[in-house]
Amino acid sequence: MRIKKGDMVLVISGKDKGRKGKIIQSLPKKGKVIVEGINLKKKNVKPKRSGEKGQIVQISAPLNVSNVQLICPGCSKAARVGYKIEGGVKLRYCKKCAKAL
Ligand SMILES: [Zn+2]
Repeated sequence: MRIKKGDMVLVISGKDKGRKGKIIQSLPKKGKVIVEGINLKKKNVKPKRSGEKGQIVQISAPLNVSNVQLICPGCSKAARVGYKIEGGVKLRYCKKCAKAL
C-alpha cells in the first residue's frame, strides 16, 4: 500500500472526485481505504432501547485505493510517490519536491 492512515488524499474518480480528505483507515487486504467525509453512505442505526427512534447516520464507505491519490504535504499537490532505500530503510518520497512522506 502506498497510502497509510493519516495521509491526505485527493479523490480522483467517483462521485467525490476532486475532494480531499484524510485517511482514517486503510484496508490493505482489500486494497481499500476509508477517507474522512468521502463516499458517505447512509446507514440506519436501530434504537438501542425500545421507545427510542432509530437514526440515520452517515458513514464513510471504503474506496478503492486506486481512486485516491496522495497529497504531498510539502508541495500540496497530488504527489507521485517514489521509494528509495536510505540507510537500509525504505522511504516514501514525493517525486515533485523530494520531500519524505
Ligand atoms: Zn511534494
